[in-house]
Amino acid sequence: MRKPLIAANWKMNKTIAETQAFLDAFLPVVADVSDVEVIIAPPFTSLTAAAEKMKSSPAKLSAQNVFHEEKGAFTGEVSAAMLIDAGCEAVIIGHSERRHILKETDEAINKKIKAARAHGLEVIFCVGELLAEREAGKTNEVLRTQITAGLAGIPAEGIVVAYEPVWAIGTGKTASPETAQEAHAFIRSLLAEKYGNAAQQLRILYGGSVTPENIAGLMACPDIDGALVGGASLKPESFMQLVQFKR
Ligand code: PEP
Repeated sequence: MRKPLIAANWKMNKTIAETQAFLDAFLPVVADVSDVEVIIAPPFTSLTAAAEKMKSSPAKLSAQNVFHEEKGAFTGEVSAAMLIDAGCEAVIIGHSERRHILKETDEAINKKIKAARAHGLEVIFCVGELLAEREAGKTNEVLRTQITAGLAGIPAEGIVVAYEPVWAIGTGKTASPETAQEAHAFIRSLLAEKYGNAAQQLRILYGGSVTPENIAGLMACPDIDGALVGGASLKPESFMQLVQFKR
């Protein structure tokens, strides 16, 4: 039985004060929610303030990135140990904005996942095709490459995969439940090739313009186990509705 997971990716949004105000409004709503897991990923600068607010909440704190090295001369980078120190239990790795704007490779992503798992951080590992790749019929090929390379040498435990078609992120063009389910089923088959039966326990989130209006249709699909949400996670009211998608 895979517990649904709804994760907020705030990207480069919210000051410390804005983070605190969001959590003051949002956390009481999830105080006794046990049928859905909630993860919130603020920017680095808000992590310790968020950790303080989330101390007695079932919601988990996540970072949006990590560097693979332990420490040293890597200006601007943050290690997995530092994320743990800041109160994180999870980290998003391989988001399409990092792949395409910041030019992160599958190899770099793989190193990051290894470092995060070595420190016990749960990893939300993002994959997804560009519009041109989908139009060229290459979606499955892209997903196979990203998953094979990204998860090379990494056991199944502590991994959540997020399928985020790049053409759906921040565009308002959500994948239809059928399109998303097809990709999720393919991803699960890749995970089964690699991990065998354990693939049935792994959660695969959908990300890309998820809103309170479209989440129920997506969550009704057999291989969609949750959502990674950008824009609609920035307001407590809409993120509350997403977490309460069943009600
Ligand atoms: C994301 O940032 O991972 C995302 C899916 O963004 P949005 O929900 O805004 O499309």
